Amino acid sequence: MDICRSRCLAAASFRSLLNKPGKPFCRRCLLSEMDQEQYFASIYEYISLLPPEQKADEETYQRRLQLCKTCDELADGMCRKCGCFVEARAARVNSDCPGEEKKW
Ligand code: SF4
Repeated sequence: MDICRSRCLAAASFRSLLNKPGKPFCRRCLLSEMDQEQYFASIYEYISLLPPEQKADEETYQRRLQLCKTCDELADGMCRKCGCFVEARAARVNSDCPGEEKKW
């Protein structure tokens, strides 16, 4: 899967989760305008609600994150290659590292 397609699928999944009834989410807010705690909680909720068939097993997830932690592209929890939060990206079984080295 190419980088853009993977990123768009992840973003679409994330948006659909955030837009579920009873959980309003402003699409037009900048990060600086959001409640950071709520935003990060939403990312973890996104991960926890991934369908089992789309979710990487725990060992794979942790191995990916350990590789990200050694990578120069990791900045504040985000991958500078794709702009994803690495914890969300690593949680999807069919996801991959967008870097040239393909660390995972
Ligand atoms: S380039 Fe790959 S290993 Fe590096 S932060 Fe991004 S996803 Fe993680």
